[in-house]
Amino acid sequence: MDPRLISDLRAIVGPEWVLTSLEARVTYRSDALTAYQALPGVVVLPGAAEEVQAVVRLCAREGVPFVARGSGTGLSGGAVPLEQGVLLVLSRLNRILAVDLENAQITVEPGVLNLEVSRRVASAGLFYAPDPSSQQVCSIGGNIAENSGGMHCLKYGFTTHHVLAVKVVLPTGELVRLGSRTLQPPGYDLLGVFIGSEGTLGVVVEATLRLVRLPEAVQLVMAAFPTVEEAGAAVSAIIAAGIIPAAIELMDQLCIQATEEAVHAGYPREAGALLLIELDGSPPEVAADTSAVVEVCQRHGALAPRVATSPAERALLWKGRKSALPAMGRLAPAYYLQDGVVPRTALPALLRRIASLAAAAGLRVANVLHAGDGNLHPLVLYDPRVPGETARAEELAGQILLACVELGGSITGEHGVGLDKKRYLPAMFSETDIETMQRVRCAFDPAWQSNPDKLFPTPRLCGERPGPYRPHPLVEAGVATLF
Ligand SMILES: Cc1cc2nc3c(=O)[nH]c(=O)nc-3n(C[C@H](O)[C@H](O)[C@H](O)COP(=O)(O)OP(=O)(O)OC[C@H]3O[C@@H](n4cnc5c(N)ncnc54)[C@H](O)[C@@H]3O)c2cc1C
Repeated sequence: MDPRLISDLRAIVGPEWVLTSLEARVTYRSDALTAYQALPGVVVLPGAAEEVQAVVRLCAREGVPFVARGSGTGLSGGAVPLEQGVLLVLSRLNRILAVDLENAQITVEPGVLNLEVSRRVASAGLFYAPDPSSQQVCSIGGNIAENSGGMHCLKYGFTTHHVLAVKVVLPTGELVRLGSRTLQPPGYDLLGVFIGSEGTLGVVVEATLRLVRLPEAVQLVMAAFPTVEEAGAAVSAIIAAGIIPAAIELMDQLCIQATEEAVHAGYPREAGALLLIELDGSPPEVAADTSAVVEVCQRHGALAPRVATSPAERALLWKGRKSALPAMGRLAPAYYLQDGVVPRTALPALLRRIASLAAAAGLRVANVLHAGDGNLHPLVLYDPRVPGETARAEELAGQILLACVELGGSITGEHGVGLDKKRYLPAMFSETDIETMQRVRCAFDPAWQSNPDKLFPTPRLCGERPGPYRPHPLVEAGVATLF
């Protein structure tokens, strides 16, 4: 990196927060999808919103691209840095700025961890509803950039339903406020455009979040089925009966066997599929819904639905599901985790398709699903030591995404497009659609400097800048063209 830039960055954030050594930069070379790696040109850890703004202004002035990073738990390569760019790590912006219990709102910096928000307001009987499984470590800034979901989003909604306002440093260095602490602000919903934009429209430096009242009662039903088709049909029937559970998670046979081996949660190993259905609300409502869910499950072939009788039993049953990813180590040395979504009624057809694609590829796939949302996480199991198997696993994971699109779904349910899935975007959108999205992006980031190589298969730059023509580094690298 240009030594002048490094010295300007040190002047902004303090020398100890600019990391240039190889050992320090290596730590930041990927997110949780380690298949994609790049060494950042320089890593900067600002300690205040003003410092973020000054760093972004400097990048804009010098024509240097940057990537924002929260906790680095993303699963689509969204926070993979640029070798010629600045990696802006937001983890020091971790203060809770204001708690407004009367209005059930909280204002936080972007590096605050998801679970920390709920912990802070639990004693007041409130919580922050979007709950990715990574909630102990992922940041609110990353959640907003990915529009993250979680097990309880079926009933409570995704991140986008719980963010009231954000302060954002635009890639030009301007500080703007999107959204409002009141409902229904007038004008275009620019907050809606920003949430889920994967770090391509600017950097969140503050967020005001909506809080929800903790339920009075919670109940968990475990129902095992002979086949995934029957379990899938039960999911649709529960919702059709007018019940909105807090969560409905589905695991297939391979997943049940691996997690039971790892955690001994009491799952029936011989079952073809398992549903965990959580109900919450007032005690009479939960009691009525629990009986109705048990009855629907029995009608759809459940072998012996079981209602957890204590919080400890409930926690153990959930522990199995939450250990599904690490438990895969018992089945194979490596897995490729995918994230797709289909209308929930299409889940049985999708699972059949995955089984036949897996058989054709000679690989095994374990499936774990946020079934109520139609959101599926296939885990393609492979052995990287076997020549060609890694490539076959990657190809199979791609075929599964295309099957999701064919069945009326999408290439991502909650993990975002990032680097990993940008090549599949044309399977969902026409060239005109993609060009329209890129024009929206240009309105926020005219020089295409904020996380430039993510989301779009071929970035389009927004026209030439005044002055003598200098080819943009992305054009020279062959990854961008000019509009
Ligand atoms: C074990 C495990 C379980 C997971 N479970 C779930 C799940 O249930 N549901 C789910 O949705 N996801 C899940 N994830 C994925 C991941 O945790 C989420 O996408 C999370 O929101 C990422 O947050 P982060 O702070 O780690 O962001 P990072 O990985 O650091 O960044 C993610 C993206 O956000 C951008 N970004 C980060 N901070 C900012 C900011 N302040 N301003 C603008 N852009 C920013 C980055 O540029 C990048 O594009 C899981 C991941 C793991 C490893």
